[in-house]
Amino acid sequence: MSYVGRLAPSPTGALHLGNVRTFMIAWLRARSLGGRLVMRMEDLDHPKDKPGAAAAAIEDLRWLGFDWDAEYVQSERKALYREALESLVAKGLAYPCVCTRRDVESAQSAPHAGEQLHYPGTCRNRFAGWREAYALAGRVPCWRFRVEPGETIAFDDVFAGRFEQRVAEKLGDFPLARDEFGAGYTLAVVVDDAAMGVTEVVRGDDLMAATPAQILIQRALGLPTPGYCHVPLVVGPDGRRLAKRHGDTRIASYREAGLSPDRIIGMLAASCGWAEKGEELSLASLLPRFTLKTIPKEPFRPDGLTG
Ligand code: GLU
Repeated sequence: MSYVGRLAPSPTGALHLGNVRTFMIAWLRARSLGGRLVMRMEDLDHPKDKPGAAAAAIEDLRWLGFDWDAEYVQSERKALYREALESLVAKGLAYPCVCTRRDVESAQSAPHAGEQLHYPGTCRNRFAGWREAYALAGRVPCWRFRVEPGETIAFDDVFAGRFEQRVAEKLGDFPLARDEFGAGYTLAVVVDDAAMGVTEVVRGDDLMAATPAQILIQRALGLPTPGYCHVPLVVGPDGRRLAKRHGDTRIASYREAGLSPDRIIGMLAASCGWAEKGEELSLASLLPRFTLKTIPKEPFRPDGLTG
């Protein structure tokens, strides 16, 4: 089977060093295996999506030397997510839930900051349908996936190795989408990876713990499970995921400051063990040097663009 990978930016802000390092690995992995790449704009997160961010991300990626073979926009694909949701509902595997985050939090025995919340199943078997839930709550319910007691999912990540999650214990019935018709990240990513023929998902390891839920949905819909390759994130000096408070690492700002794409790619390549510090290299020139083996297992902390 020939390799199909994907780049899946969310237009919630400007493209920065963190996104680009992951995309660089995804691009090199696909191209070094002679594979195809799809570009999928994940623009379903309405309150957080920024106008113009999708076009800007594409422009920045092209400037850096990225290319791809097909382009998709999730907001144009809602009919597919709706169909998948209807199929899960028909199988009794999806139900509407009106619990607030606070309701779910207060049901935890020991909530930990930043951890995924365990859902106690309050709205399981509670409503005949979405409209009834909406009428009761007076706001938009979310859709949850019904997880069987004891459900555990394990997979072998190409980069990180074996990962196992007791989904029933850890998450319970997890959310599928906040949209009436199922247009939300978790369901959409599963539908799209299958529809686009993606054979391997390369993405940041902040999504590792979200993968078992995606595998459960794949199985429920009779879709294949792609390979997974979760790579470490870029973090700031405080060890937290790269963000605005760590200073300006937007690609557009480097470009305005006169830095070349080869300088940016060279610095990121050095962080993956494919180049010396200070080397300037184009993305395509890295193809013969690419290997997953030299990428450090720890998050990458850039110390400036010369780092
Ligand atoms: N669009 C997501 C993000 O930018 C990535 C989703 C995925 O790779 O599955 O965080």
